[in-house]
Amino acid sequence: QKTEWAKLKNEKTLTADGHEVELVANIGTPNDVKGVIDNGGEGVGLYRTEFLYMGRDNLPTEEEQFNAYKTVLERMAGKPVVVRTLDIGGDKELPYLHLPKEMNPFLGYRAIRLCLDEQDIFRTQLRALLRASVYGNLKIMFPMIATVDEFRQAKAVLLEEKAKLVSAGVSVSDSIEVGMMVEIPASAVLADVFAKEVDFFSIGTNDLIQYTMAADRMNEQVAYLYQPYNPSILRLVKMVIDAANKEGKWAGMCGEMAGDSLAIPLLIGLGLHEFSMSATSILPARSQIRKLSRAQMEDMAQKALNMATAEEVVALVKSI
Ligand code: PEP
Ligand code: MG
Repeated sequence: QKTEWAKLKNEKTLTADGHEVELVANIGTPNDVKGVIDNGGEGVGLYRTEFLYMGRDNLPTEEEQFNAYKTVLERMAGKPVVVRTLDIGGDKELPYLHLPKEMNPFLGYRAIRLCLDEQDIFRTQLRALLRASVYGNLKIMFPMIATVDEFRQAKAVLLEEKAKLVSAGVSVSDSIEVGMMVEIPASAVLADVFAKEVDFFSIGTNDLIQYTMAADRMNEQVAYLYQPYNPSILRLVKMVIDAANKEGKWAGMCGEMAGDSLAIPLLIGLGLHEFSMSATSILPARSQIRKLSRAQMEDMAQKALNMATAEEVVALVKSI
């Protein structure tokens, strides 16, 4: 198996009936890029920038961030790199920001909500990203978008910082795609509207499942409700993919589900374009996908969408 995987390192990812998808990796630091290359990753689908902010006692400067982003873009040598702007709060704390304790941190002041409020933090990160954009193929995505207005505001701040840099004579790429994570049910339900304004979607199933099922992703007692294969989740995923297709945009997934060998046949059948996973899952996934026919997976996904329970869906996928 290892030798089969090694042969696939520089291959495209094609289904048995010739449909191409993209297998990319989730990373947390510039040092993770080596693993992406070594494992045949076609890009970075989620760069979690939180790590730049964590494990220290002050905010990272624009220069520190610029260096990290530039390093990742250069090492990826023109392959796509999706950078997620700061997603702090919820399970990811930053003690030095002295944020008030909340009853429901997962439903609270976090991610884009905090960034649109504390704009100095957000603008510093965006400037660092914009300056780094000329060193590779940068795509920017905003986390935890719940409303179209939040996306518009975030994009407007990005364009403002870009205009300032350009007028100061700093070079900035003109082909940066700007997208969003779909990890709140409201944005999945409204995906057709969002699709007119975004360049891409990346579905964050880790949060989407917890919010859809109202089951805290960290709480063992309700873990039985954390059901990636619940038909409700599959239907939301389908809405997002269909909405993207209709507007000629692409849809990826960067939650754990994207790298799960049981979920991959369903996601191929639902028409997902990009799968972002831990680097070591990429070659096994490529090998698996080469054996799947998308036409057959479409039939299977259609059946799954009409099932009643996650158990039924899992039994269906295991039967292929
Ligand atoms: C997600 O929510 O699926 C995701 C990829 O983001 P994180 O796990 O960092 O919340
Ligand atoms: Mg998330």
